[in-house]
Formats: sequence, C-alpha cells, structure tokens
Amino acid sequence: MNIHEYQAKALLASYGAPVSDGRAVLKAEDAKTAASELDGPIWVVKAQIHAGGRGKGHFQEAGAGEAGGVRLTKSVGEAADEAKKMLGRTLVTHQTGPAGKQVNRVYIEDGAAIESEFYLALLVDRQTSRIGFVVSTEGGMDIEEVAANTPEKIVNFTVDPATGYQAFHGRRVAFTLGLTGQQVKQCINLMGLLYKAFTEKDMEMLEINPLIVTKAGDLKVLDAKVSFDGNAIYRHPDIASLRDETEEDPKELAASKFDLNYIALDGEIGCMVNGAGLAMATMDIIKLYGAEPANFLDVGGGATKEKVTEAFKIITSDPQVKGILVNIFGGIMRCDVIAEGVVSAVKEVGLKVPLVVRLEGTNVDEGKAIINNSGLDVIAADDLKDGAEKIVKAVKG
Ligand code: ADP
Ligand code: MG
Repeated sequence: MNIHEYQAKALLASYGAPVSDGRAVLKAEDAKTAASELDGPIWVVKAQIHAGGRGKGHFQEAGAGEAGGVRLTKSVGEAADEAKKMLGRTLVTHQTGPAGKQVNRVYIEDGAAIESEFYLALLVDRQTSRIGFVVSTEGGMDIEEVAANTPEKIVNFTVDPATGYQAFHGRRVAFTLGLTGQQVKQCINLMGLLYKAFTEKDMEMLEINPLIVTKAGDLKVLDAKVSFDGNAIYRHPDIASLRDETEEDPKELAASKFDLNYIALDGEIGCMVNGAGLAMATMDIIKLYGAEPANFLDVGGGATKEKVTEAFKIITSDPQVKGILVNIFGGIMRCDVIAEGVVSAVKEVGLKVPLVVRLEGTNVDEGKAIINNSGLDVIAADDLKDGAEKIVKAVKG
C-alpha cells in the first residue's frame, strides 16, 4: 500500500524527522487559507499522486511553458492559483505511464533554500533478509538514470534487523554524502529514526529523493515516498486510514473487497485459477506458448459462487483481456462451484472474448455438465498444456 508525500512527511515528522511546514489541500476553495498559514517567502505547490517524477512531469493539455507537478511561487495568492490549476487535472510522469494520474490533492509547503540534494532509500532486501540502505550524492534526479550510467555513485549496504541500526550505519551514510561537523550528528540521528519508522510501521520501501542540506547547513527531508507491506496493514489501523482508494487500480480494489488474490498485469490473457502455485504455473505456461498473462488471480480454496462471479467480472472488465483461461484443479475448491460462478458471471456481463476452461478434480463431471448445458461458447481443455495452447491459439490465431 502506498501513501501520499504529505502523509509520509507527517508520519516521518512524528518520529522526529525534519520536514517543511505544509498543508494538504483537497478542495480548490481551501487553497488560499492553507497557503496563508505558511510563512513564505516561497510557497511550493506539489501535486499529490502515488507516483514520482512530478517535478519533471507535465499536465495533459498544459499551456506552453507551463510547469509540472512541483511549482515554486512567491505569494499566497500565486500559490492558491497554482493549486487551483492543478486540482482535477491529469499529471503525466515517467512513473505514471502515458495515461497519467488525476490530481485530487495538492500539498503547499514552505520553500527550502537548497544547498545540495541527495538520494536515500531504505528497503526490504529479500536476498539477505535485511534492511537495505541505498545512498547517493546524486539526488533530486532520476535514480534509475544514475544506476544505469554511473552506478559507482550509488552506495548500498544492509542492516541486520537482529542487531538493528547502529551509529556506524549513520556515519557510513554521512561519509558517503560527504557531510561534515554537525551534519554528521544530524545524519546519525535521522537515519536512526527513519530505520525505526521503517521497521515499526512495516514499510517495504522508504525513498527520500531529495534529502537535502539547506543553506543553513541542516539536513531536511524534501520528498518522501513510502510503501507498506500489504500483509501487515492489519497491524496498523493508523496507516490503513491513510489509504487513498482513488489512487489504486479499480480492479485490484474490487478484488480486495472480495478477498481475492488479484494482481493486474500487462498481458492479454486473463486467468482464473485456484491456488497460488497453480496460478504461477498457469502464467508461466501462457508465456511459454508465446502470450502474456493479463493478471494473477488465485480465487482461493473455499471460494463461493459469488466470489467466483466477482472474479470473472473483474477479469472481463479489463479492456486489455483478449481471452480468458479458467484453470481449476478442484481439491478443496469444487469444480461445480467454479462452473456456476463462471456461468452466472457471463450471464451478467456477457462474454466478448474466447474462453477456455480446464476443470479437473473434485466434482469435475458436475462442473463440466454445468458448463456444457449453459449454452456458453466455451472451449474445453483437458490439461494445463492443452488449455494454454488453446487460449493462445484462440487469441493469436
Ligand atoms: P518529484 O520527485 O515527484 O519530482 P520532489 O518533491 O522530489 O518531487 O520535487 C522535485 C524537486 O523540486 C526537488 O528535487 C527540489 O529541487 C524541488 N523542491 C521540492 N520541494 C521543495 C521545497 N519545499 N522547497 C524547494 N524546492 C523544492
Ligand atoms: Mg522526488
């Protein structure tokens, strides 16, 4: 689960991290009051979307020379105007893809006098089962570009969660960034509290780009991007309440409401499978036969007919889906329940793409009978290989 920059900054500030004073604005008419509560002399207006690269992004139908999603203004009035201009429009950045994202919130914050910009990230390093630090002097810009062109400018190290964060980790960050004097102390302190926030709140990634040194010589968090481990959200109602559903894939959101394990992907073949392992194998074999899966979907063991119906509706609502493969190995899940769900969903939403169904296991004969008697235009398959071959052929010809 992701949150907005302003929410991430408030969370980090509650741990003691230095951030600028700012106000989130959801309605254009509140922009002026929000800006007037800040000191100036620079007001920075920042589009709040769950994607980075806002500064270098552009709005759809932008006027000539119009700035992107981060704008520096010099008065309360100007800040309010820029906030109003951004709200409701679609911002395109290298992370949103060409469709962009609608800006429903903006953040107005005090402008910082920047001496230098750095890159810092904390993440779960699954390879070492540790917390990884990624540090670079090349902040403020595309870290992907730095990684590709000058990888030597990125320093990585990990912290063993069993022993936890130690001052020497902070000194290592400070040394990498070339900090001196008071800044080293600030850095040790800041890294410690970021590490604490990261582990206590079950974050998956915490990216601060840029972390800055101000003209006055102090460290400050100028941007913050945080994602949390979705499986741990139940432990953090405070974090769960920060969820902005308008930022999420509507298909994934619908799936989570019905407790389905669904992840949208870029391919053309929708898959409905029971069991995560079989779902992975199904995606693999679709690729093996030269096509790409449009989703991962595990309907689970004890799914009801209603749940299967919802799952099928979610798959068919994806305009990228050019064919559907239902691959069920009935164990705890019964084939007749799946068949009933598929038939009832098709009756509700229709079927405009080829559908291949492979059923095997518990109540397979009942399941097949339900499909065969439904009048649906279904291509029957005998096994995993047969199913994958048939759906790829039906889609690709
Ligand atoms: P994004 O990464 O989405 O482009 P950032 O928050 O990193 O958004 O902002 C982009 C750039 O804008 C920063 O690298 C910094 O140079 C400038 N900037 C952002 N916030 C402020 C601020 N409060 N004061 C001054 N400059 C800022
Ligand atoms: Mg940034």
